[in-house]
Amino acid sequence: MQNFINQLSQVLEKKYILTQDEDKAPYLTDWRKRFTGKAFAVLLPSTSNEVAAIVKLCAQYQIALVPQGGHTGFCGGATPDNSGKQVILNLKRMNQIREIDIANQTITLEAGCILQSAQEKAAENGYLFPLSLGAEGSCMIGGNLATNAGGTNVLRYGNTRDLCLGLEVVTAKGEIWNGIKGLRKDNTGYDLRDLFIGSEGTLGIITAAVMKLYPLPVSQWTTLVACENIASTIALLTLFQKRANSLLTGFEMMTRESLNLNEKHFPQMANPLQGNPPYTVLIELSDHESEEHVRQLLETILEDAFEKSIISDAVIASNLTQANSFWHMREHITLAQAEEGANLKHDITIPLSSLDSFIRETDELMREKFPGVRIINFGHLGDGNLHYNIAPPLGTDPKTFNETNEKLIHELVYGQVERCKGSISAEHGVGQLKLDDLRGHKGEVAHDLMKMLKTALDPQNILNPHKVVSI
Ligand SMILES: Cc1cc2nc3c(=O)[nH]c(=O)nc-3n(C[C@H](O)[C@H](O)[C@H](O)COP(=O)(O)OP(=O)(O)OC[C@H]3O[C@@H](n4cnc5c(N)ncnc54)[C@H](O)[C@@H]3O)c2cc1C
Repeated sequence: MQNFINQLSQVLEKKYILTQDEDKAPYLTDWRKRFTGKAFAVLLPSTSNEVAAIVKLCAQYQIALVPQGGHTGFCGGATPDNSGKQVILNLKRMNQIREIDIANQTITLEAGCILQSAQEKAAENGYLFPLSLGAEGSCMIGGNLATNAGGTNVLRYGNTRDLCLGLEVVTAKGEIWNGIKGLRKDNTGYDLRDLFIGSEGTLGIITAAVMKLYPLPVSQWTTLVACENIASTIALLTLFQKRANSLLTGFEMMTRESLNLNEKHFPQMANPLQGNPPYTVLIELSDHESEEHVRQLLETILEDAFEKSIISDAVIASNLTQANSFWHMREHITLAQAEEGANLKHDITIPLSSLDSFIRETDELMREKFPGVRIINFGHLGDGNLHYNIAPPLGTDPKTFNETNEKLIHELVYGQVERCKGSISAEHGVGQLKLDDLRGHKGEVAHDLMKMLKTALDPQNILNPHKVVSI
């Protein structure tokens, strides 16, 4: 190991090679505090060449690397194992915005750029970088790409994958693949870019990316709407999709239980809808035509929804501050859950046509088998994405409850997901959390293909081993 460190110090200044426990500590525990690992060192490179040189050295000494961005992931993908033999490669110093190309409507970002900085840079230039999620103040573009993050704008603009045109990646051999191209068409054989996106650091290290920009909307209207049941929220989505089409940019569902939790931990986030209804839906319309046009459209659709008895109440944000407060309410649910203590998360997708039966049946089974559990159910409903989270009964020690029931609760939820032909990971990835669940979910053929890809691209298994697939 000493030889490795000696050679490393020819690549990186000593202050960017962290080996002391107190220096390494902030990089070892994930955001949810579910996983804590040990690392031999934390490395902080600032260029792609430095990353490539580090990977070459790791390949030479057969040392495993754990790529890390903002460390906000929910599946323990950026946390090392307990061996103390792995190194963390944190990319936060690679935070340059390399280029904004207005004619091409693209922005080229290094992997360590904080998502919010990318959004701000785009806005300064009159453009929208639409990727948006609760962790945007600390997650990084490399992490967003590696997890194919979703967030609140997927309905209109797609996942991170859909926003990416080109990548620069350091391979397991320590070579730099330069795929930094801003092309919307490129049918030159296998799509390497798509292979690395969503691979959670197991196939290569993303060092930079070309991302799409969009014109900034001239007007946005945000509303909170009350629905009595999940069937009505789906009917409302159908109505908005039909009538507003691509002007619909947000459709988020929050249950009464999730907003009660918000209010308990963040009283300023109280639901402005009277009586905190069973389902609150946050809807956003964005328009490039005029303020007037979109406001009228929103009012007409809401009137229609009232007439059809799909909704029972609605509040339209009267200004930007109020619109932001609606979004903050949605984003604070995750934080309120963290304040409440450990809970069991399920980030799932269900086809919208099966969502009603999924929720009704899963809720019923859950309450029957685990009396008193609190179902904290919310999500990006427009994408069929539910965060179906289970908090222990009040007065129960979360640690003991989770240790006893975690496996059974996951089996119940994932069994229902399979029945509905859904996915056990909508947007958070697999990491180490869902490693064991993946095989059964993907099926043998898909799982074997994934293992073959991993073996082909990383034969020494040094890139984030035992995350996503084990070989
Ligand atoms: C409050 C909150 C709200 C959230 N909301 C959402 C949401 O709405 N939608 C959503 O999808 N996620 C959400 N997340 C989860 C998380 O923010 C995303 O998964 C995000 O994309 C992770 O980015 P990161 O930079 O923190 O990556 P990290 O957590 O550091 O890493 C995640 C994975 O990517 C790998 N990785 C990181 N950087 C690189 C790189 N440069 N090259 C190769 N591999 C790399 C890591 O090894 C790890 O496997 C939320 C998290 C929080 C805390």
